Amino acid sequence: MSAAPLPPGSTLGIVGVGQLGQMLAVAAARLGFRVRTFGPDEDPPAARVAQAHMAAPYEDEEALRRFAGCVDAATYEFENIPPRSVAVLQDHVPVRPGAEVLAVCQDRLEEKRFLSSLGIPVAPHAPVDHPGGAAEALRAVGGEGILKTRRFGYDGKGQVRLRAGDDPAAGFAEAGGAPAIIEGFVPFEAELSQIAARSVDGAIAFYDTPRNDHESGILRRSTLPSGLPEEVSAQARALTGKVLEALGYVGVMTLEFFWSRDGGLVANEIAPRVHNSGHWTREACVTSQFEQHVRAVMGWPLGAPDRQLDAEMVNLIGADAEDWLALASEPGARMTLYGKAEARPGRKMGHVVRTRPRQ
Ligand code: AMP
Repeated sequence: MSAAPLPPGSTLGIVGVGQLGQMLAVAAARLGFRVRTFGPDEDPPAARVAQAHMAAPYEDEEALRRFAGCVDAATYEFENIPPRSVAVLQDHVPVRPGAEVLAVCQDRLEEKRFLSSLGIPVAPHAPVDHPGGAAEALRAVGGEGILKTRRFGYDGKGQVRLRAGDDPAAGFAEAGGAPAIIEGFVPFEAELSQIAARSVDGAIAFYDTPRNDHESGILRRSTLPSGLPEEVSAQARALTGKVLEALGYVGVMTLEFFWSRDGGLVANEIAPRVHNSGHWTREACVTSQFEQHVRAVMGWPLGAPDRQLDAEMVNLIGADAEDWLALASEPGARMTLYGKAEARPGRKMGHVVRTRPRQ
């Protein structure tokens, strides 16, 4: 399939329809592209800013073929799409990143095997396929840890913390009884993420490395600069570059890390897409992560990722978004609301970025 840059006026297809798709669509429109979205809901955030939306299940191959007929290239903003669906699209149009990337990133065990094969440190872990195997897996990682389903987990969902004295078999049942892994606790001082992009011709651009604070397994805040030693960011870039090259990746990808002075960087997971910890790039960088992804998918050269401002991004989770009027009145608070109808607890409703001149 041609790797030639697609000209303005071409149509980008986005599979997945949440806030990431919404911000991708806005960035694509700014470069002169048309956008069509595909996903199961009738009126999702991304569809509000797209030219057309096809509401169909991700598994609907007939609908996917029709969608492919209306777009010039496609991408996804959600990693739990069946690789088979991406492969169906790939028969007709370039899909970047491709289905093979999903196969690695959808399964926490495969992902850890892949990262380890590249010499990238990961948390101690052991697979659990049935309740009877949970106790031994917990012992293997040191007696305390987090049980995570291998597939379909996000924002702390599908996870159960297991401390000394807890019944690991009950934890397995609580997580749904699906194949899982138990990870040992990584004693980290900070969490960070490396957001990077790779173009069709193999050029790579790295963003500055944010420091990320989580609450209840959900990202609360990303801070730039991170305040961590520069060698840490250099190492995060080197490891992320290895992953991009090994996957022959095209688009924006994020590698999440734990860091401690003694243990160095330990990779947590790969997000094969634009990432919540990169939302500040819209306000603080020459090229946002969203524009960068669109550029890569459409075969364009990458833009400069340079950060021009210091920044803090805070997520508006659940009822936080009720403060929209106060935030709208705060000078310098740059708020994005995703337009989700229902503010369920733990649901990301929007975010605020505050910037200041670089120190
Ligand atoms: P995850 O869904 O794997 O990204 O986990 C969500 C959050 O839970 C992470 O960002 C950490 O704050 C915490 N967490 C997950 N796994 C571990 C671990 N092995 N050790 C310590 N904290 C963890």
